[in-house]
Amino acid sequence: MSLRESDIKQGPVCTPGSLGNYLWNDLPDPNKWADCVHCGMCLESCPTYEQTGQEQHSPRGRVHLMKSVAEGKLEINEDFIDPIFACLDCRACTTACPADVDVGGLIEEVRGQIRQAIPLTGWKAFVSKFFLQGVFPHPTRLHALGNLLKLYQKSGLQKLARKTKLIHIMPQHLADMEAILPEISEPVRKKYKHVNVIKAKGETKHTVALLTGCVMDVMFSDINEATIRVLTRNGNDVVIPQNQTCCGALHVHAGDRETGRELAKQNIEAFQHVDRVIVNAAGCGCMLKEYPELFRNDPVWHEKAEEFSRKVEDISKYLYDTGYEIPKAQLNTRITYHDACHLAHGQGIRQEPRAILSSIPGVEMVYMPNADRCCGSAGIYNITHPEMAGAVLKSKMENVPEDVELISMGNPGCMLQMAMGVLKHGRNQKVVHTVQLLDWAYQKEEGKEDRT
Ligand code: SF4
Ligand code: SF4
Repeated sequence: MSLRESDIKQGPVCTPGSLGNYLWNDLPDPNKWADCVHCGMCLESCPTYEQTGQEQHSPRGRVHLMKSVAEGKLEINEDFIDPIFACLDCRACTTACPADVDVGGLIEEVRGQIRQAIPLTGWKAFVSKFFLQGVFPHPTRLHALGNLLKLYQKSGLQKLARKTKLIHIMPQHLADMEAILPEISEPVRKKYKHVNVIKAKGETKHTVALLTGCVMDVMFSDINEATIRVLTRNGNDVVIPQNQTCCGALHVHAGDRETGRELAKQNIEAFQHVDRVIVNAAGCGCMLKEYPELFRNDPVWHEKAEEFSRKVEDISKYLYDTGYEIPKAQLNTRITYHDACHLAHGQGIRQEPRAILSSIPGVEMVYMPNADRCCGSAGIYNITHPEMAGAVLKSKMENVPEDVELISMGNPGCMLQMAMGVLKHGRNQKVVHTVQLLDWAYQKEEGKEDRT
């Protein structure tokens, strides 16, 4: 399908400036592809190239396609859209690239052009609008969805649906997702709604704010609770600004940069009175650190975004840098560690989580080959591209050592995807967040049961 005049008219904003066949607001940054010398050193790092062996599904191929549209040699059509949206945005290619070409950043900018040129239609438009605009940015609606899931789990409906195999009327990948749904509990943002500060245990050394996240706080509020316990145990007063919102990563990955910017502005304002923003979800942390990119053409907000992004820190790096207390209790377990793409490739954080895990008495770390290879989660990629996500997950699971009890990581999307991998590939490991392990060790020290 090539770009038609009727498609162009549907685009919400058509700017006077253009770049070849990129005609819409928020043009991609040509400096980002200027340094690519087509050396191919990124090819082996790319999970979609590994699966397909096709140049257009490689970082080099994608850079070439994106540049060709800017040069007017290629139109925005299906042949172009397919490889751009099949990219996992995992950033492994940027780590591998000697010229630091920001392929992931370019992919996001170009998806912004595509979605303005050819907006989604039909059920895809409905689902995208319903979840990305109607639910994620609105905590009350998100919490209502969490309550529905909780009701489904607690009322016996889940057991019935599984027993009668009713669950299989859904598409297979959705039925698989249902099978790994974590137990839903109260979001911390709701729980601490009327608490100004969660006080440090003992002397206060720092005051930090916590980004509770949207999916994180509904699906994994136990990890948010663990994060708060670990922070307070290590001398941090914790505040949870109630006007914070979704980080916007899912929107930006999907090409909806306008909503991404609106959410970014809300978060920048919500956290303006704090010095440190702690994040326990790698995808959200990476997005918050990249807010300045969203405001490249807006000097006022760019400056605010720069100031904001300097305050953002991943929980594992923050604990490591500020000197967390080594727990005294033994956990006696064998663990392997998976690098979430947006922690390792996106934020350069690799050694700190491993150091924390290794410091817990009794924990034996087992090496995972290609630990920084994507698991196929990639936001909602496992929903939009279930076949490719499944193939990438299969490769990942082949690298997970058999003789471990736990797989640790620092991103909720990866936790769901790896739990799916454990289920589908007949493994028996438990999937945990790095900060949970530390929390379990502290809790055991305080006389509570061993959770491993
Ligand atoms: S993106 Fe980097 S590694 Fe890949 S071909 Fe271009 S210069 Fe080489
Ligand atoms: S971001 Fe990941 S999937 Fe996309 S081109 Fe780079 S390595 Fe391949």
